[in-house]
Amino acid sequence: MRELVVLGTSSQVPTRTRNHNGYFLRWDGEGLLLDPGEGTQRQMIHAGVASSRVTRICLTHVHGDHCFGLPGVLSRMAVDGVDHPVQLHYPASGEEVVRALVAVAGSGVDLRLHPHGAAGEIADGLDVVPLDHRVETYGYRLREPDGRTLLPERLAAAGLSGPVVGELQRQGRVGRVRLEDVSVPRPGQRFAFVMDTAPCIGAEELADRADLLVTECTFADEDAALATDYRHLTAGQAGSIAGDGGARLLVLTHFSSRYPDVAALAAQARARAGGAEVVAAADLDHFPLPRRRPVPSGAWMPVAGMPAAVTGPRGTPDSRQAGTPEPGGRPALRGGEEGPRPEA
Ligand SMILES: [Zn+2]
Repeated sequence: MRELVVLGTSSQVPTRTRNHNGYFLRWDGEGLLLDPGEGTQRQMIHAGVASSRVTRICLTHVHGDHCFGLPGVLSRMAVDGVDHPVQLHYPASGEEVVRALVAVAGSGVDLRLHPHGAAGEIADGLDVVPLDHRVETYGYRLREPDGRTLLPERLAAAGLSGPVVGELQRQGRVGRVRLEDVSVPRPGQRFAFVMDTAPCIGAEELADRADLLVTECTFADEDAALATDYRHLTAGQAGSIAGDGGARLLVLTHFSSRYPDVAALAAQARARAGGAEVVAAADLDHFPLPRRRPVPSGAWMPVAGMPAAVTGPRGTPDSRQAGTPEPGGRPALRGGEEGPRPEA
């Protein structure tokens, strides 16, 4: 299961309808908590994200709207008895802030600190790329290795079935049949996360062929001077980054509180986003990673007409509605919100 859960969508200050930034990326067995701003712990409850699902926390930079939720989330993980290691990634120059936030939370979580000071792979399939903001900032990209999709009709024509198919996948050849004879390339899925930045090469690199691209969208095009001053993106710039990179789904977020309605920003981004689908995120939206499908030529193209698949409740952070339930009815949070729990 791979999906993005949007926990908050406001920059700088929260609003009545938008919490500070925060995102949870569910990626198979991993759970990445990205840029937890204030209030993230409570947003996780609304969104149905259990603290035990967080395996990795990624900070783009140490401005408050991207990290002040950290102590609360760590404290909650301790209360919930999370016993697996949690990796914390952040720009090296943010060390002092990060250590202070972690110290406030106290101990109780097996937290491993991983500062980074340059572009590169920081974990299996997880890259950081420098962005251009007022403090050291990195975007994140998660990449699945490219693979191959087996074609049942070609397997059948080759007379292959059962355990021998696994052998073919492992060895690349069984007898006279090569893996490439009975399969087509399957590009690995890509998720990219571009937060506070002016337009820059790093943002372009991150957007390159992203299946799901999240970008900040702090300002409308008419406020481009502010965007330049504070090194943020306008909606149009966010759209261009997605369009130029061939991204498939662009999720806009990190809106300035000056825009009560962000539909105009989405339209501005869409106008420059080429083939990318563009959605302005609301708090508690869920976005499944778009699927790919093969075409007979062996090339790949997006699934036509695929909806943005926004499934989350679009209420305010104070909405009484619970988040989208887990498949299979798994309880949203261990112990439940109402249950008695020890003092933190
Ligand atoms: Zn910010």
